[in-house]
Amino acid sequence: MPSKSTLATFRRLVVTWFRKHGRDLPWRRTRDPYRVLVSEFMLQQTQVSRVEGFYARFLDQYPDVHTLAAAAPGMVRESWEGLGYYRRAANLHRLARRVVTELDGTIPAEVDRLRALPGVGRYTAGAVATFAFEAAEPAVDTNVARVLTRAFHPRAGKAARDQHRLWDTAKALVPRKGASAWAFNQGLMELGALLCTARQARCADCPVRAVCATGKRTLKAARRRPRSAPASPGSRTPSRDGLASAGSRRTGRPGTPDRS
Ligand code: SF4
Repeated sequence: MPSKSTLATFRRLVVTWFRKHGRDLPWRRTRDPYRVLVSEFMLQQTQVSRVEGFYARFLDQYPDVHTLAAAAPGMVRESWEGLGYYRRAANLHRLARRVVTELDGTIPAEVDRLRALPGVGRYTAGAVATFAFEAAEPAVDTNVARVLTRAFHPRAGKAARDQHRLWDTAKALVPRKGASAWAFNQGLMELGALLCTARQARCADCPVRAVCATGKRTLKAARRRPRSAPASPGSRTPSRDGLASAGSRRTGRPGTPDRS
């Protein structure tokens, strides 16, 4: 685990950067748990730009959990047409019916209770808790996992033990105060979507480069390289833009494999 002061600096830099550079996305303008849930289901495996239009249309048609619960399954599927991965629509519909019939129409705020709902896994439960209820909960999707791996656990792989470490680090990083927890989790995802992407890590432009293991290493190597000696042909590690990665994650906060 990184030191407390490193975590504190990283946390502060992410929040400050996000407040200045974070994109204005429709699901960031609301704390309505139903709307946040809809956005999280739609963003699984899907690009932000693609979701934006669907999101508004879907909410026009199903403005609340009761409307969605009352709809016929075929109608919901039709409304999802074009977004793909129809299991998400079926799960969201089942979730709405469960919330209406068993929870009096109230989406729970606690991670454990959220995880008991159809289609909600660890990531989605954390995301709804923090993005709708401003809870100090981690939400590690593939963008966040990539940032945390590069910043603090550069040797981490896919093993369950390594993934647990990422979640532990994410938990240690989340600010205790609601609005800051929301901004930090959004900021971490935004970093992974805009600067620390699977294709390339733009360390020279990154706000956390001074406390990121990969950023420090990459920028040190770039400084050592003589000005007249460009990176070797075909190199995927540009001198200014930092590490280029062969990773496979989505960018622009598109969907994630572990988003339930
Ligand atoms: S400094 Fe580089 S590797 Fe580290 S988080 Fe930023 S872009 Fe990613």
